[in-house]
Amino acid sequence: MISSLNTSPVFSMACRQFERAADLLNLPTDLRERLKYPKRAMSVSLPVRMDNGDVRLFEGYRVQHHLTMGPTKGGLRFHPDVCLGEVAALAMWMSWKCALVGLPYGGAKGGIRFDPAAHSQAEVERISRRFMQEMIPFVGPNVDVMAPDVGSNPQVMAWMMDTYSNHAGHSVPAIVTGKPVEIGGSLGRLEATGRGVAYLVKRYLEGAGYKMGQVSVAIQGYGNVGSQAALGLSGYGAKIIAISDVSGAYYDPSGIDVHEALRYGHLHKTLDGWNGAEKITNEELLELECTVLIPAALERVITSENASRIKCKFLAEAANGPTSNEADRILEDRGDVEVIPDVLCNSGGVIVSYFEWVQDIQSFFWEHDEILHKLFSILDKARYEVECQKETLGVSRRMAALTLGISKVARAKELRGLFP
Ligand code: GLU
Repeated sequence: MISSLNTSPVFSMACRQFERAADLLNLPTDLRERLKYPKRAMSVSLPVRMDNGDVRLFEGYRVQHHLTMGPTKGGLRFHPDVCLGEVAALAMWMSWKCALVGLPYGGAKGGIRFDPAAHSQAEVERISRRFMQEMIPFVGPNVDVMAPDVGSNPQVMAWMMDTYSNHAGHSVPAIVTGKPVEIGGSLGRLEATGRGVAYLVKRYLEGAGYKMGQVSVAIQGYGNVGSQAALGLSGYGAKIIAISDVSGAYYDPSGIDVHEALRYGHLHKTLDGWNGAEKITNEELLELECTVLIPAALERVITSENASRIKCKFLAEAANGPTSNEADRILEDRGDVEVIPDVLCNSGGVIVSYFEWVQDIQSFFWEHDEILHKLFSILDKARYEVECQKETLGVSRRMAALTLGISKVARAKELRGLFP
């Protein structure tokens, strides 16, 4: 398992980041190995009946990175290119993210290799339920807790919760987070990742002396995270000049009507055919002159190829792993782009997932305002700690965030010792 992960480019990317951080922390070799490789990496076959009666086999994955500080936690991705190595990298990043913001979780991530847009709702339901059925021996509210990620959503979490609860013989809302509010979901969870991104971006911009009215933002990816970040930032007074999805990118230097784009996207599934802005390519969007560039889709979109050409002042990583190692080096050398790294930038999602899990366990639900207040104060604390670490070690903001997260997990492993 370990050697096969090493052939994955995304897993290698996560490992190279880890090794750089581990060097800065002077971690001993044996501890490095224990921290780097996942505790469990599962691959499952899912035979599912299609609407036309045929049976098709789908491939699903779940990686639980470490179990040192509590259950593992992380999303479930539906995408035709998802593979075990990518899921293992995403699980590792979840570990550092949870530790950085102080959640009692290890990281996890799952994936099913298919395109949900190419299937009926009934087929997506059967694929989702079959995956949870296969996962039942390996998950639980105290073992591993799933949540939405790219391609999945609250309805998928409702099917997951129902499948697990049927097996348990009673409702187990804490088995997943990101559920609809009616069945134990948390107020504020749907918008938490994007709202958290918008909040952190605002805090960094204000810290650098910007007025929100002067700020222009380009967002790559207009799914849940990208669109909520757009709504949040335009609510703060920023101008959203470009957005994109699978159909391409849309640009209006005088500002896009983000509500209108969202309505169109909901109605037509994609922005294809939307005439609210000039059509450009996704590559052009990434290189636009803007105050803030927000990649909010998949990994490795800022690469050695385009890193020297991006023209933003702030790169806010709403996606996980959007910047390749080589691009990271180029941006560090350039020194004129402030990177808000993924493990900090998009942590709002898993923070409110944690609130949801706590509320489910207590069967006591909190008000929306209280949730946002608690979310923002955790983000402020994490941001402050990252800035202090950056100063103390004299490193990039990404290395500051990663060394903080990794050192907390390393310390927990040392304290618990090796069993037996
Ligand atoms: N998929 C989200 C992430 O990458 C959320 C995970 C969760 O809420 O558990 O952070």
